[in-house]
Amino acid sequence: MDMFGKKVGAAERAALEVAEDSRQQEWKHSSFLRGLFDGRFRWNLVHPFPEQSPEDKAKGDAYLAKMEKLLREKLDPNEVDLTGRIPDLVIKELFEIGAFAVKIPAEYDGLGMSKVNYGRILHLVASYCGSTTVLLSAHQSIGVPQPLLDFGTEEQKRKYLPRFRKGAISGFALTEPDAGSDPSHMSTTAAPVEDGKYYLLNGEKLWCTNGVIADVIIVMALTPPKIVNGKERKQITAFIVETKTPGFEVKHRCEFMGIKGTQIGLLKFTNVKVPRENIVLREGEGLKLALTTLNTGRLTMPAGITGVSKYVLWASRLWAKKRNQWGMPIGEHEAIADKLASMAASVLAMEAMTWYVTHMADHPHSDIRLEAAMAKKFCTETGWYVVNEALQIRGGRGYETAGSLRGRGEKDDAYPIERILRDVRINTIIEGTSEIMSLFITREALDTHLSKMKPLFSSKSGLGLKLKTLMGMTFSYAGWYPFLWLPVFGIGRDSGVSAPLKKHLLYAKRTTQRLARGMFHFMMLYQQALAKKESLVSRFVDISADLFAISVVCSYAVGQIKKGVSAEESAALADLFCRMAKARIRQKFRETVCNQDALKKSVARKILDEKYSWLESDIIKTA
Ligand SMILES: Cc1cc2nc3c(=O)[nH]c(=O)nc-3n(C[C@H](O)[C@H](O)[C@H](O)COP(=O)(O)OP(=O)(O)OC[C@H]3O[C@@H](n4cnc5c(N)ncnc54)[C@H](O)[C@@H]3O)c2cc1C
Repeated sequence: MDMFGKKVGAAERAALEVAEDSRQQEWKHSSFLRGLFDGRFRWNLVHPFPEQSPEDKAKGDAYLAKMEKLLREKLDPNEVDLTGRIPDLVIKELFEIGAFAVKIPAEYDGLGMSKVNYGRILHLVASYCGSTTVLLSAHQSIGVPQPLLDFGTEEQKRKYLPRFRKGAISGFALTEPDAGSDPSHMSTTAAPVEDGKYYLLNGEKLWCTNGVIADVIIVMALTPPKIVNGKERKQITAFIVETKTPGFEVKHRCEFMGIKGTQIGLLKFTNVKVPRENIVLREGEGLKLALTTLNTGRLTMPAGITGVSKYVLWASRLWAKKRNQWGMPIGEHEAIADKLASMAASVLAMEAMTWYVTHMADHPHSDIRLEAAMAKKFCTETGWYVVNEALQIRGGRGYETAGSLRGRGEKDDAYPIERILRDVRINTIIEGTSEIMSLFITREALDTHLSKMKPLFSSKSGLGLKLKTLMGMTFSYAGWYPFLWLPVFGIGRDSGVSAPLKKHLLYAKRTTQRLARGMFHFMMLYQQALAKKESLVSRFVDISADLFAISVVCSYAVGQIKKGVSAEESAALADLFCRMAKARIRQKFRETVCNQDALKKSVARKILDEKYSWLESDIIKTA
């Protein structure tokens, strides 16, 4: 059934099947968030807060200094915004310092940096220039280097990776005009020719970042379908495509409200001949490759948006102190003070979540697919809130361009908040929209239950299997469910955690049980249809985000105190964030039982059926 109660059609079923087939199914390593959904608050997974080794940190520090010097001396981000170009000289110098090969191991001529150092670099770049961040990130977070590092053959790695030190730029081409969040609807084809030695690519790819200037792109395309278990299954395959191959064409360079210096294009492939050895992973596993690449690739987004948010917090602080209205600095008016405090607490949470997940990505025994999706959603949404508040604090100057501010003499205070707001808006859309992140997290959160129940609802299961499944479930839930009601006395290893923060962690532990109970109750009520109740389940996703944030914030605050930050200040900011998060959690729980979901659904149906077209009167309709 769809959300309006109509039977799911063949197209939707096929899309879900393709997505399910391409999903990473196994969980080999630990995940704090997966534990939360099972009702287990595994504080030991977030505390003590992970730290870089002194050697790794020193390597990162030295590189950051080099990058900052290059950006400060050679790049004017407002000029990039105005001209729509990152100067060639800057790109050349970025290559000279290895900025396009940061994560590539030294044996392939890369810098061999850790993921934490890579995140730190993008955090720094993003605090200065959105377009340059997108250039570097699309190239090596999702472009050719990342899937090759994860899935490439030794031969492919030796052939391509060293090129990213010498001037080659890459991109990732999944989206098409009719295939956005649902890539199973793609229509670009790759037909085998010459006994399968080559493939001919035909079709269009939309919004390929760097596509206009890229030398090499990873392209997902349909190869001939296969019969799996008696049914025809779509096959999506990933190819490395050299853009100099005849038949490749940049049809259009796209323009956007922000990140004006990016080279994002609509690409056309007409009989582009690609050798078989350019397939990455195996035939039919291209969507799995794309989704797995995005699972970790999107981790650079929280790092970037945290960098930007820290910049605007800094600018807001300076302005709130300097600007006097009604006889005092605006920062001393309660409404602005409220904003500053809430922004700082939010930035603390973004920082804690970003670095926790990024450290985990370097850890061989952790699985961060849930945490990366959560950090992407939480940080990009929180970052948007922070930047929007910064614009409000700047008042009219927040809406004015940096060039205009400078032009009329406001040299020292020409913070480019207007450009930053335009640049960061894309973050909740690319590399998985917030809504799709929520669906992805929900699917994984319900996995324990869904995998247990699957035979019960399958038309293919016989009565024997159904009874066996029912007994297995009863046995398993009889052990698990009562545990969700046990009283909580402590959080385990809590060295260095101050009393107020301990209280928040105890709350998080208790609420973790409540979260798992709540999801289980709705699972029993709606069974598989629960995943379709997007408004309901998104509240559980938001609750888990705040529980995760409370946990990492408390751990991070303890770590900061150990590094010499004042205990009083660190604990106060963490305390504020936890109180804000608790208020949101309470509200979300209330809304799981008392909401307007049904009414909204019926109004939305009427909107789609044009019953409210009278609300669209007296306007100039342009399309
Ligand atoms: C500047 C820019 C750069 C990009 N770079 C790249 C790139 O390098 N490579 C690449 O392959 N793609 C790229 N993209 C594409 C980007 O990843 C897509 O825009 C994104 O995946 C969403 O697809 P869409 O825009 O077609 O939105 P749609 O999928 O049409 O979605 C529209 C809205 O509906 C919501 N929605 C869709 N399905 C559901 C659902 N099942 N439940 C609830 N809500 C839903 C979405 O969240 C969104 O709010 C880029 C896009 C832009 C604008």
